[in-house]
Amino acid sequence: MTISLKKISPEEYRKNFADMKPALSESAAIVEAGRCLFCYDAPCTNICPTHIDVPGFIKKIMTGNYIGSAKTILSENILGESCGRACPVEVLCEGACVMNDKDELPIKIGQLQRFSTEWRRNNKKSIFDIPESNGKSVGLIGAGPASLSCAAYLKLNGYDTLIYEAEELAGGLDAFGVAEYKLTLKSVLDEIEMIKEMGVKIQTDTKVGKDISFDELLKKHDALFIGIGLGRTRSLEIPGNDLNGIHDTIDFVKKYKTNPPGETAVGKNVIVIGGGNTSVDAATAAKRLGADTVTVLYRRSESEMPAFAHEYEHAKADGVNYQWLTNPIAFMGDTDVEAVKCIRMELGEPDDSGRRQPISVPGTEFTIPADMVFLALGQVADKEFIKSIPEVGFSNGKIVADPKNGKTSNPRIFAGGDVVHGAKEVVNAVQAGKLAAYEINKFLSDEED
Ligand SMILES: Cc1cc2nc3c(=O)[nH]c(=O)nc-3n(C[C@H](O)[C@H](O)[C@H](O)COP(=O)(O)OP(=O)(O)OC[C@H]3O[C@@H](n4cnc5c(N)ncnc54)[C@H](O)[C@@H]3O)c2cc1C
Ligand code: SF4
Repeated sequence: MTISLKKISPEEYRKNFADMKPALSESAAIVEAGRCLFCYDAPCTNICPTHIDVPGFIKKIMTGNYIGSAKTILSENILGESCGRACPVEVLCEGACVMNDKDELPIKIGQLQRFSTEWRRNNKKSIFDIPESNGKSVGLIGAGPASLSCAAYLKLNGYDTLIYEAEELAGGLDAFGVAEYKLTLKSVLDEIEMIKEMGVKIQTDTKVGKDISFDELLKKHDALFIGIGLGRTRSLEIPGNDLNGIHDTIDFVKKYKTNPPGETAVGKNVIVIGGGNTSVDAATAAKRLGADTVTVLYRRSESEMPAFAHEYEHAKADGVNYQWLTNPIAFMGDTDVEAVKCIRMELGEPDDSGRRQPISVPGTEFTIPADMVFLALGQVADKEFIKSIPEVGFSNGKIVADPKNGKTSNPRIFAGGDVVHGAKEVVNAVQAGKLAAYEINKFLSDEED
């Protein structure tokens, strides 16, 4: 049997993937900014991983100083435009807004942040004065949010910065992972143009370890930053896992974001395996691309699912079904996947982490028809590459580095982002890159002293 696929028209695609939170008009932004109470010791600033002065940038919108507002944001978070759209504000700044305690809607901080940063871009205003080169050079591996942030803040301190990126486009998962209805690929690439205009150089199509060796980079640069993120989705070692129609979710999200609207085909009956935020992205994308049924399988119960509650609500609103306490045990079909064989689970005793472990219930096997399956089981780091880096530790699937400053046990090598702190959000990677930039500056200035 061949896989039965569906496509939607370009018009339907544009409608289904339109901005989840549309841009605010100038008048709407001023009215929204006027609702802010400009708290002292503001909880929104404290909870923001990059500690943007939120009341400060909002006050500047109120007074029409949009460029000043954008500067306040970008000084702390160079990817402030992406973050205004991609941050899970419900559990960060907007979740901490004091308006929630007054039973009022929180200030739309993300949308205001988007307003100021987009205003800067649309009006082609540059924000920063870039100092003359200090003659020192830093090489950065991977052009995701961590390296982009690290390179930009080093540039503001006079360093020559060159990012090596394996893919043909920069941006990492900010560009290719975040759902299109939150953040378009185009807006990420425009934001990267601003970083390039600051003087950060990006060499794409260059995989370190393959196209250029790590040793060469050590000879060429005074210090190195590793921001390679986590790699592919973990595979599922069960019978039939080589059948056609079983996909890595990250590959699929990248495909639909880079294909022209209406070109990405999806199965009629889609199964998504995993209970995190990536599984929500795969499930909602499949539904919006026209799948008749989308079912998420999760081996624990609803209350243990790691996806954010607001993401889960999106998935339910899109018509995604959930099968709790369900584990896939085989993919069925000749050459193409036709069904997923599952077994029911129950929760046993907690393990060392305190989480109750799922255990199979014998005799409860059943099958669900499927012509496409997405694996969303978490990502795994490029262990071979990391182990080849001199004096840099690898533990629990991540690089060992100080989260406060990115220092590794090799004094010339720093690291940050998902490859150090595990899968988090764009804003966390930006902060890790910024903190590493401060430390690299300290290290290279001390060296001079
Ligand atoms: C499907 C999905 C949806 C997401 N949605 C959101 C969201 O809505 N909001 C949010 O805030 N966060 C979201 N995230 C998380 C967010 O995208 C990541 O936390 C963030 O991008 C991590 O940044 P990073 O720089 O550490 O790594 P990455 O973004 O992974 O970038 C690493 C870069 O390094 C490159 N690279 C790797 N190895 C090499 C090498 N040897 N040589 C050269 N280059 C190399 C890679 O090609 C990549 O470009 C999502 C993640 C996924 C997977
Ligand atoms: S970066 Fe994200 S968490 Fe921080 S203030 Fe902006 S939207 Fe909120």
